[in-house]
This record gives sequence, structure tokens and C-alpha cells, in this order.
Amino acid sequence: MLDARCPPGYDGPALARPRKPSRFARRMDRLEISGVRKMFDLAARIEEPINLSLGQPDFQVPPEVKEAAIRAIREDRNGYTVTQGIPELRERIRDEIERRAGFRGGRVLVTSGVAGGLFLAMGVLVERGDEVILPDPYFVLYRNLIRFFAGTPVLLDTYPDFRIRPAKLEKAITPRTKLILFNNPVNPTGVAYTKEELAAIAAVARKRKVLVLSDEIYASYSYDFPHESIFHHTDDAVLFGGFGKAYAITGWRLGFAAGPEEVIDRMAKLQQFSFVCAPGPAQHAGVAALDVNVREHRAEYRAKRDHVYEALRAHYDVVKPQGAFYFFPRCPRGIRDQEFVRRAVESRLLIVPGSACSRRSTHFRLSYAVPDSVLERGLQVLRKLARR
Ligand code: PMP
Repeated sequence: MLDARCPPGYDGPALARPRKPSRFARRMDRLEISGVRKMFDLAARIEEPINLSLGQPDFQVPPEVKEAAIRAIREDRNGYTVTQGIPELRERIRDEIERRAGFRGGRVLVTSGVAGGLFLAMGVLVERGDEVILPDPYFVLYRNLIRFFAGTPVLLDTYPDFRIRPAKLEKAITPRTKLILFNNPVNPTGVAYTKEELAAIAAVARKRKVLVLSDEIYASYSYDFPHESIFHHTDDAVLFGGFGKAYAITGWRLGFAAGPEEVIDRMAKLQQFSFVCAPGPAQHAGVAALDVNVREHRAEYRAKRDHVYEALRAHYDVVKPQGAFYFFPRCPRGIRDQEFVRRAVESRLLIVPGSACSRRSTHFRLSYAVPDSVLERGLQVLRKLARR
């Protein structure tokens, strides 16, 4: 007799006990709406908001990058590309990371943004019960992704200076630890790690044989010393790099992942059945982008960083960031982040509550990737709120 639960032609394992299917997969219950998204929605309702809540550059896309995308579209290069990404771009990325990041061997995969790359990596590596070490504060997508794939985020508190201590990292590693999800420079704190710190962090990972995922999307925004990549210190890592932040093309969805063949090949397999490929015209533009020098924008953002630090340091407990384009100051004593953000919104200032990217609710994130006039208005409100 045929098992009713296992119809002919069904090639998966029979389910032990049928349960009433709910309309939505339970994994969706594990996702939390991002605090940044909430701000985005709020911004749409406020007239003339002073929006310091978004993480994207405010400068113009370099004309040669725009031209390359337009040319690709005009020349009818609009179809699918191979899943791995067009060979010209993969080769250019490989050259670049061999020269700058110490990449030796391994594979490169072009992805739909860093978010796309992280999704593939998590899908390939994380399953129920796996622990993923997540330095706190963290980029909000990380925690959600770990949970979506039924992993357990193990938060590694880095307050008050937001730097990972290798001994503390080692203590957090258990036999179930699958990954360390590392970000450098860090969103939301702006911490950039020095060569010595990276060497020590990588030494722990190597010793305990834990793979490191290193999100280096802000590599071009390191202000006080040249950006240092994880590959200089370990080969057992996957590096994620992006084009969105460096060239102001966040909407084009272009990034890459590079690392051990066994990981990248599986990510490519999953990409084939999900994203298929990164957007084609964006890939052609990516080749042109790698010829563009972003030094000027780095200098411009460094000046903004210095200015914001000088404006805030007398009023807030704030760590001077060395990279990315965020500050993560402490809310005035006795005021929780949600309440502080509420007061800011009353003055039309949009910032992100720290609890959107941390277990603690004591800080807030601001982005200074905005025109100086907007930044000035934002700083004025922040000075006023500190005096209250
Ligand atoms: N990683 C970090 C640390 C980020 O801040 C962001 C964007 N805010 C991303 C990844 C996502 O990048 P992409 O747009 O390339 O998917």
C-alpha cells in the first residue's frame, strides 16, 4: 500500500509525522525588522528630515562607471552571465586582492552585493545548532541571517571601545562554533583593526580551526592607516568586498566573495539556484570601477569624520572611528536609545537606536555620509539634545 504521505514520484524522505502546515515558514518568525528600515519608513513621513540614519555615500557615481554600465546596456550585454561572474571582472578582482589583501589562491565569486554573498555563505555553512560568533555591536543583517539559517548568534560584547579582545574571542569558541563573523571597518562603530590586532584575531581562529567570514565592504574608507585585510593573516577565511559603498552604486547590487575553493564553489552552486548571477551591466561597470581612484572621497569623508568628532566630543561619550562613515556615541546618561531617538525625531533628526545593532540599548548610530549642510543641522540638534 502506498504511504499517503509519500506520493509516487516524491523523492525526498518521508516526514515522521505530518503537522498542519502553517502558511509561512517558521524561519520568517526569526527575522526582525531592521531599526534602520524603521527609520527609512519614518523619514518618508517627516517633512524635510535631517536624515543621518542611512549607510550610503552621498557623492556622485564616477562618470566612467556610469558610462560603462550604460555602454553595456546599449551594446546588448543584458543577458545572464555565468554564475561565477564575468571573467574580466573576476580576474580584476583577483589581481586587486592578491596585490592589496594578500589573497593567495582560492576562488572568486561575483555576488549580488555583499548582502547576497553573505546570504550564500550562511546558506552553505550554517545549520541548526551551529554557533556563529558575532562581535556586538554588529551590522543588523548578520544576526538576522544567522537566525534565518537556524544558527545561534553568540554575541561577543566589545564595549566600551568596540574592539575585539583575542582572549575573550577564544573563550567564546565552543565545539559548536562554526564561524566568526568579522567586519572591518565596522558598521556601526567605525572601528578599523590594525595589523597587530588582525594578526592576533586570526591566530585565535587558526588555532581553534574556525573559519572567518570577513566583511570588508568599507575597505576604501580607512582614514588613519591603510586598510588591512584578513588574508594577510589567514587563508581559512572568506573575504567579502563590495562596490556599492566605494562608488556610490549601492542599488546596483555588486559585490564579491573570495576564499577557499570548497566554500566558494558551494556558494556558486547556491547562487545558480537563487540569484543566478549578479546584475550583468553592473558587472561590466565593476571592471571600469576598479580603475577609478577613490582617494578624494576618502579624504572628504576623513574631513567629515574629524569635524563630527570635534563637534560631538564635548557633549557625548564617543569613540573616534577610524573607518566606514558612522559614529556610535553613547546616549546622554540615564536616557535609553529608543527614548533618545524619539527626542531626536521630534527635532526631525533621524538616527538609528543602538539596540537595532546591539544587545545593549545605550548608544545610537549616525551616518555622516551626507552633504555638509545636512550634517550641520544634525549636529546642531545633537548638541541641543545633549544639553537637555
Ligand atoms: N556589510 C556591511 C557591514 C554593510 O554596512 C552593508 C550595507 N549597509 C552591507 C554589508 C551590504 O552591502 P551590499 O549593499 O553590497 O549588499
